[in-house]
Amino acid sequence: MIIQLQQGIPAKLLEDILQEVKGIGFKASEVKTQEAHYIVGIGKKDFDIRTLGQLPGVADIHRVSDEYKLISRKWRVNPTLIDLGDGVVIGEGNFSIMAGPCSIESERQIELVVEHLKANNVKIMRGGVFKPRSSPYAFRGMGLEGLRMFSQLCSENGIKIITEVMQVSQIEDMVDFVDVFQVGARNSQNFNLLDSLGEAQKPVLLKRGISGTIEELLQAAEYIFSNGNEKIMLCERGIRSYENSYRNVLDLNAVPVLKAKTHLPVIVDPSHGIGLRDHVEPMSLAAVMAGADGVIYETHQKPEEAFSDGQQTVNFQESECLIKRMRQAYKLRESF
Ligand code: PEP
Ligand code: MN
Repeated sequence: MIIQLQQGIPAKLLEDILQEVKGIGFKASEVKTQEAHYIVGIGKKDFDIRTLGQLPGVADIHRVSDEYKLISRKWRVNPTLIDLGDGVVIGEGNFSIMAGPCSIESERQIELVVEHLKANNVKIMRGGVFKPRSSPYAFRGMGLEGLRMFSQLCSENGIKIITEVMQVSQIEDMVDFVDVFQVGARNSQNFNLLDSLGEAQKPVLLKRGISGTIEELLQAAEYIFSNGNEKIMLCERGIRSYENSYRNVLDLNAVPVLKAKTHLPVIVDPSHGIGLRDHVEPMSLAAVMAGADGVIYETHQKPEEAFSDGQQTVNFQESECLIKRMRQAYKLRESF
């Protein structure tokens, strides 16, 4: 059950409600987010919702049978919209394009990508400065110095940035320079990181684990929400299977399924999903038609020279064509 409390509820009323919830045999957890104040009740017993609903201080009450609660669409029917400022809003009713290199490599590279994005009216640039790499000898990112440069060049040009945070200790150093924190597939169930991002004052894009189920992704998002941050988007980026003709299996089934289960925006990453540059476009278009609220993909001025993931990175010409076609596809979807 979820009880939304009235703003600024007096401590005495809160205590009375908590006692009532416990009284019907439910475990009660208080959740205070940047937007609102809730009690999440966990229990199986049947009860008359009106008994609790009429208590002073209760703004709203819902039964939610899912294991995850606050991110469930059973409770909040209206989709979550994430406002990054300057008219950049992510969520249903908008189609968000986030593009950029796998890794931030140099000032010149950022300038070229920014120019490409501006020419195509793309408002969000991706790029990793802390890179999770399978090999410890591979390029692991430019770190904070790269982030500062990335942030400055983008903010000067009205572009928002999304970049991966790998551990709790980085959040504080990064928070002023990012618009969206990305949690990578390898950290999808790093619960300490999720808890801490719940306390951060910036939106989070949470990727699905390499072999993570949809339920696990939703529960991971619940960690962030229940620690205070409601600005979460989910990202399907492909899951591992026995198939080795491509990097991962981009699970587009996840898009309508997630959209039905949660009010959070759903973003698709076709670059990591298929891992093959030539096939990023059809999978991006398929993601649009599947109902995604946005696509995040990798682009670079010279993909063959990229420090990481060049094999799945499209060049600017391909990127331009992709952007146009995704927008056309989105229009078509909206006309249905
Ligand atoms: C990335 O976005 O560059 C990345 C490392 O993604 P993932 O965590 O999905 O592998
Ligand atoms: Mn990458």
